[in-house]
Amino acid sequence: MTDKVKFKRAAVIGVGLIGSSLARALRERGLVDEIVGVDRDADVIARAQKLGVIDSGETDLAKGVKGADLIVVSTPVGAIGAVAKELGEAAEDGALIIDVGSVKGVAVEAAKAMPERVHFVPCHPVAGTEQSGPEAGFASLFRDRWCILTPAPREDEAYKAAVEKAAALWTSVGARPEIMDAGHHDLALAVTSHLPHLIAFTLVGAADDVESVAQGEVVKYSAGGFRDFTRIAASDPIMWRDVFLTNKDAVLEVLGRFSEELAVMQRAIRWGDGKALEDAFTRVRGLRKAIVEAGQESAAPNFGRDKGD
Ligand code: NAP
Repeated sequence: MTDKVKFKRAAVIGVGLIGSSLARALRERGLVDEIVGVDRDADVIARAQKLGVIDSGETDLAKGVKGADLIVVSTPVGAIGAVAKELGEAAEDGALIIDVGSVKGVAVEAAKAMPERVHFVPCHPVAGTEQSGPEAGFASLFRDRWCILTPAPREDEAYKAAVEKAAALWTSVGARPEIMDAGHHDLALAVTSHLPHLIAFTLVGAADDVESVAQGEVVKYSAGGFRDFTRIAASDPIMWRDVFLTNKDAVLEVLGRFSEELAVMQRAIRWGDGKALEDAFTRVRGLRKAIVEAGQESAAPNFGRDKGD
């Protein structure tokens, strides 16, 4: 398995949280001889080099991917189309190109537009934190996390082999690869990730407005639940701007359903319908148990925090 995913030179485009985590994991597992960081920000490259995450760096994409047999596109989703277009010219013949973007429709469209001589396999590791930049990355980020692959509709053997190689790469860094249709991915992730982030951004924004009235109390009593939303709402604004711009239809679909459910809750509260509230809360509790049983969360109370507040 390891032989199958050994690379001579990896170029990581966008050396932030995810790109630097994959670079660290590839190096730690001995899967790559040399790592080149490609970022539009020379300061990011300098920091990543100082951290030992990359061996060298380039702000020029074409120069950075020269000689690379593995190219990781770990920029915000909005940049994937333009980066892929450049890679169509600049990548070496036979190079395996993967991205890590949170929306897959846009990556598949980019993969479809690429020349057959290179093999772009869209991927989404369902792993991350609310932090950004090369300092935030760590090698174990992908361990026991799903990585969803949404291959382009290509039937040639070389591309099929590239999909297998991409899956083996993710397995080698501890993730669990799964193949999925891009549209299905984008709808599923709109439910499990994009909508929760939108709610957190909106809720924290609304509380910030109230804060100006209730001077200091929102922060003081934040352990009452609000704090957990602020963690999600601290996520990178550029990354999330691009997610909502590129997954518009799926997000609007689940947002519509959410708004209907919210209206049902609003009505139950207005009319003092305790049974409706209790039934709704009881029904959703089971989901938490299922997530813990699937190994995607700790069973410890309060997310394993020391203080029981
Ligand atoms: P990040 O820490 O902000 O890193 C992104 C890096 O890409 C930044 O250094 C950024 O530079 C650089 N960049 C932007 N446009 C570029 C371009 N055209 N060419 C070269 N470099 C460019 O972001 P991240 O959290 O690692 O996210 C990267 C990707 O992973 C996104 O597509 C995101 O959807 C996906 N993802 C994120 C998570 C998560 O939890 N964060 C989880 C799974 C997947 P500047 O700072 O100068 O813009």
